[in-house]
Amino acid sequence: MSLEDRRVLIAGGGPVGLFAALLLARQGLRVRLFDENDSPQADPRAATTHPATLELLGAAGLVEDMARIGLVAPIFQFWDRPSGSLVGEFDHALLKDDTPYPTVIQCEQFKTAALILERLRLLPEVEMFFAHQVTQVMQDGSGVAVTVRGPQGDARHRGAWLIGADGGRSVVRHQCGIEFQGFTWPERFIVLTTPFDFGAARGYCPRSYFADPEEWCNCFKVAADGPPGLWRTVYPADPALSDAELMSDAAVEARLQKFVPRPGRYEIAHRNLYVTHQRVAASFRHGRVLLAGDAAHVNNPIGGMGLNGGLQDAANLAEKLGQVMLNSASDRLIDLYGRQRRRVAIEFVQEQSIANKNRLEARDPAMRRRNLDELRVIAQDPDRARQFLLRSSMIAAQRRAAAMTLDEADP
Ligand SMILES: Cc1cc2nc3c(=O)[nH]c(=O)nc-3n(C[C@H](O)[C@H](O)[C@H](O)COP(=O)(O)OP(=O)(O)OC[C@H]3O[C@@H](n4cnc5c(N)ncnc54)[C@H](O)[C@@H]3O)c2cc1C
Repeated sequence: MSLEDRRVLIAGGGPVGLFAALLLARQGLRVRLFDENDSPQADPRAATTHPATLELLGAAGLVEDMARIGLVAPIFQFWDRPSGSLVGEFDHALLKDDTPYPTVIQCEQFKTAALILERLRLLPEVEMFFAHQVTQVMQDGSGVAVTVRGPQGDARHRGAWLIGADGGRSVVRHQCGIEFQGFTWPERFIVLTTPFDFGAARGYCPRSYFADPEEWCNCFKVAADGPPGLWRTVYPADPALSDAELMSDAAVEARLQKFVPRPGRYEIAHRNLYVTHQRVAASFRHGRVLLAGDAAHVNNPIGGMGLNGGLQDAANLAEKLGQVMLNSASDRLIDLYGRQRRRVAIEFVQEQSIANKNRLEARDPAMRRRNLDELRVIAQDPDRARQFLLRSSMIAAQRRAAAMTLDEADP
């Protein structure tokens, strides 16, 4: 068997591509990874890492370091923003018999990626090419090839399988002609990050959700270079306003003063605007090409599930590729990867993230009252709160995927 027959190509060195590389290389498989950026990006997107994902990261020896450089955040809260009242509080300690990690860890995605990268650099099985963009994908019965544009021009690389972990605008997905089914929200999401301590000022915990028919908000703490850390607030942006109108110093200050009025001006560490989609690839497999992470599914960030789902894809796929490439298992296992992860993306992540947004932004007064009363009752009932946490922590999704067989029809 040639080296190429035992090599996995990965397009994309975001957290999902890097995690897949680590898990493959640790089984002794050769990996060649390409990323179009010069180096990993200090991206202020994901931070919330749920128990189901911590189980996978823990098996790879990453969780202690994540807790050290991130924040351990066992509790999250729902608030009614107009009245300023706390609706309910959920403590992951209720999951102590369900998972060895009954907590969330808030660890910024670039930090998780850096921890994985440190480990990858020690593994001779892995070749990483930054500043290399995958531009074309070709395959035949025995392998797959990519054209990659690097500083020295175009080159072709061949392997047994290709993982497209190249983000929401995936070239790999486009090259395979796979439809990205779903929709784009009309409003963008605005993220404002400040050192102002909302915990000390208002008692908000490091993961706090605010329901408001006028302007919902999520408020999160991240460790940054801390302590003391930074607080990120996320709001819907009025689609009628331009970037300049939304992001001017005056607009940003006014938005934060409306959220929590204070005497001085807010110091702003970051301000970002994101277009937000709900989309899932029509298939996660096209011959020898597999999609994972944002290349396969994207969703709004309320509930913090996008990257978690991507890391779960990586772990599921690496285990199955190992079985097929090292133990001669049937490649129908790879079909099972696509079925399991696509079903979970649709039935859990899409459904839950849309429900989370609907709950926070509900306008009809009767519907709002019903939503908030329901949350209040669930939070006070340990059995119902545990069921709620099993879904929000993505444990229920992982259990559903594990119970699936190939006989189950694709959703
Ligand atoms: C405001 C916000 C907050 C979020 N918060 C959370 C959260 O708390 N928890 C959570 O789970 N998720 C969250 N997410 C989602 C999360 O950021 C994404 O799901 C995550 O980045 C996906 O990782 P990925 O590795 O699949 O893709 P990416 O991080 O997009 O990485 C893709 C990589 O591929 C490279 N690439 C692209 N095209 C090519 C090419 N042609 N050739 C070579 N390389 C290429 C890029 O340079 C990049 O490094 C949030 C998102 C937003 C916008």
